[in-house]
Parts: sequence; C-alpha cells; structure tokens
Amino acid sequence: MTRMVALPNGEKVPALGQGTWYMGERSTARAGEVAALRRGIDLGLTLIDTAEMYADGGAEEVVAEAIAGRRDEVFLVSKVYPHNASRAGVAAACERSLKRLGTDRIDLYLLHWRGNHPLSETVAGFEALQQAGKIRLWGVSNLDTDDMAELMEVPGGAACATNQVLYNPSRRGPEFDLFPALASAGIPVMAYSPIEQARLPRGGALGTVAKKHQADPFQVALAWVMRSGDVIAIPKASRIAHVEMNAAARDLILDAEDLALLDRAFPAPRRKVGLEML
Ligand code: NAP
Repeated sequence: MTRMVALPNGEKVPALGQGTWYMGERSTARAGEVAALRRGIDLGLTLIDTAEMYADGGAEEVVAEAIAGRRDEVFLVSKVYPHNASRAGVAAACERSLKRLGTDRIDLYLLHWRGNHPLSETVAGFEALQQAGKIRLWGVSNLDTDDMAELMEVPGGAACATNQVLYNPSRRGPEFDLFPALASAGIPVMAYSPIEQARLPRGGALGTVAKKHQADPFQVALAWVMRSGDVIAIPKASRIAHVEMNAAARDLILDAEDLALLDRAFPAPRRKVGLEML
C-alpha cells in the first residue's frame, strides 16, 4: 500500500521516503548504499532526503548514482547549511548541490536549521531559485514554534512546504504546540530519525504490538509516525533488508488498542518541550 501526504500546493508525496545521513562517507559502502536506495525507489519510497552537509556532499553523489536514469520517478529533497542561507549563498549552495546530484532541479529545498541569516533573506533566495526553475518548492527544518511564527510573518514565508523535525515515539515533544501550529498553517511534518537511529527499545510496548501484528518493532514505530496521514517519515537504511522491512511498514495499520498501549509507554507531552535535534 502506498500512503501519500499532500503538500500545501496539493501535490502528493509518499508518506514513507528514504534518508541518506551517513551515506557517502566510505567508498567501500557506496555500491551497497546505491543498491539500497534503488530498491527503495522500486518499492515506491521515491521521496529521497539528503543535504549538502551529509558526508560533505558525498551523500548527494550517492543519490545521483541511485537516481541516474530515473530522475522523474523521484521527489528529491536537499538542504542548505544555515551559514550558506543568505540570498546569494543559497543560490551558490544550490548550484553545487545540483551538480553533485546530477540533476537540473531539486523538488524541495530546505533550510537545515536556523542560523544567523535573516529568514527574509533565505526566503528571498529560495524564491529566486524557484523562479529560475532550480527548485520547485522550499521548506525548513528544525524550526520550533517561535521560529515558525516568525517565518509566517516574512514576505512569502507562508509558502513553506514542510518543517522537517525529529519525531518518533520517544520524541513526542512537538505534538504539544508545533504540530498543531503547522496543521493550522496547512504545513505537513517530515519526521527525521523516525526509529531514533535504531536505538528505540525493541521490547516493551513496541515489542508487544509488533508481536500482535507479526511485525518488527521498528515497523510499528514507522506505522506510528505515519498514523495521522499528514506526517512523512524518512528512515535511512543502507541495507536492502532494512529497506524492504521499512517499505512493508506502510501496510501496518495500528488500531486503538495498539495506540493506547504505545501512549502509555511513550506519553504525549503535557507541556511545551523545546524542539530537540540530532
Ligand atoms: P533513522 O532513520 O531513525 O535510523 C537509521 C538507522 O537505522 C541506520 O543505522 C539503519 O541501518 C537502521 N535501520 C533502518 N531501518 C531499519 C530496520 N528496518 N531495522 C533495523 N535497523 C534499521 O535515523 P536517521 O538516519 O538519523 O534519520 C533518517 C533521515 O532523516 C536521515 O538519514 C536524514 O536524511 C534525515 N535527518 C535529518 C536531520 C535534520 O536535521 N533535518 C537530522 C537527522 C536526520 P542501515 O543503514 O545499516 O540499514
């Protein structure tokens, strides 16, 4: 089953994509990483998330190899470093990313986290890239409620297509105020580290629910992250077996009993929790 999430412009993207952090760091791992991403594309995990930061551009080069000859099947997300996010800086950074990615356009270009450049400058830079056809959409990452409110006041800021944040059962903080604010602005969430970099506990509630559905605890975590229909999860897997397991999590629908059990083990926040980052 392919679950989709609608972006603010009405375009639909897969609710389950693929991350690439730590790809491109070792040449000996490269062929395996490319094969894993390709297998993911075959299975419909066609949203690929990367960044100029990952392996100093090396991850974008791995992505280039994985999408060679099938660029149109993929929804490509990359990110600009905060220190490059001036009006002129985003243009230069985007040009470098496009070159490494071996493509003429990025589908969604994100500000990786808030830095010192005014948001108005970054947005103006993104708009210029859109007009030049180098990026189709833009968004942000790691922006908490106060920064999002500021962004909404910047000229053109309301066109933000997503906020990519740390979210999984052990990181529910943004459910308190950030997710409601994004929902009311019509901006979907992109959840990074959705299995907490494979550190989520395999036992306890995740294990119990997994057993009931004859699934893996990390598949339960992915199904949980995607449960609302407006969150995109981007697990990273450089092993084909992991890619296949993650893709199968799209078929796992958690029922009220499962959700209640997971709520007890991983309680929803009752007060503001500052946005955490990895
Ligand atoms: P993650 O996706 O939660 O976990 C990745 C780790 O889990 C890898 O070690 C992977 O192993 C393993 N794994 C994947 N599927 C598995 C499975 N089915 N069973 C067992 N282990 C499995 O963590 P992440 O890479 O930090 O987050 C995902 C993506 O989000 C990143 O790659 C990146 O694209 C993005 N991200 C963005 C930010 C940001 O600031 N915007 C921050 C962090 C991450 P193998 O690789 O060996 O298969």
